[in-house]
Amino acid sequence: MLKINRRKFVANTVTSGAGLMLGSRLTGLTRKEEMVSDTADPKKDLMQEVLKYRKIDAHAHVDESYYKVEVNLDFADRLGIEKLMISDFIRPHTEGTPDDFRARNDFVIKCIKEHPDRFIGTVALNPKYQKASLEEIDRCHDAGMIGLGELYNQVKINDPLYYPVIEKCIGLNWNIMMHSAIGHSRVVLNPREPKNISLPEDFADVARRYPEAMFQYAHIGGGIDWENACKVLKDVPNVFVELSGSNNEANMIDFAMKYIGEDRLVFGCDYGFYQGVGHMFSAKLTDAQRKKIFFENISNRLKKGGRDVN
Ligand SMILES: [Zn+2]
Repeated sequence: MLKINRRKFVANTVTSGAGLMLGSRLTGLTRKEEMVSDTADPKKDLMQEVLKYRKIDAHAHVDESYYKVEVNLDFADRLGIEKLMISDFIRPHTEGTPDDFRARNDFVIKCIKEHPDRFIGTVALNPKYQKASLEEIDRCHDAGMIGLGELYNQVKINDPLYYPVIEKCIGLNWNIMMHSAIGHSRVVLNPREPKNISLPEDFADVARRYPEAMFQYAHIGGGIDWENACKVLKDVPNVFVELSGSNNEANMIDFAMKYIGEDRLVFGCDYGFYQGVGHMFSAKLTDAQRKKIFFENISNRLKKGGRDVN
């Protein structure tokens, strides 16, 4: 079967955004270029294939300046993403005070109240402020939020400061989604990374300490050495590995399938919507595997926490 490489596919989907917006066909692609993977059926319209899968974006953001609500919903509508798990994360290299994370969570609460059928709210907090963080979980739980995310790099995920927070989430059956690092190579981290950035090894450490807790390793396409991340998290069953990020090289999902497998991978976009959806169709996945990764895996986890999105 004819195919083009994934990089070309993503470039084409981005440049043909107008085509995506206007209709159900990728009008910027030739017939041959539509044959993007071994599993895509060339007789079918690509957008029809995209739209036939139910999807939950397990990594989405909102704020009032960059991660606009209306932009999120516009992409989601066109790509058939039913729900987005949103957060307004504490920005890197900031102190992350209670006033800061409460204000961010207030905005998320406003968003889920305005779009209860589309947005699932997750909580930002900083365990350096332990009492305020634990109280914030209660406050946000009462407001309808479910889960933590995207936790940022103020404190490492396996730091003892996180233990009471994780124990509270075990009680609530909440998903815990944590950011990870950007690195130039296997061993050298980007110099901008703070010392408390959580690495795959830190996730494995805390997940083994708390086997009942449910962790979500954010964006293997976010700049980390994803081959190493998949190897480190291979035998850690309570860590879901989420696929968003703008550095998603060809074969990343195929590689993750070998190490993590179809039951622990979850779809996400992190505001990179075409890449997030596009690489799911260039990967060699069966129909059943796509259903799990797009929707079922994270849906089952949310159900444990009391949110049935079906
Ligand atoms: Zn992140």
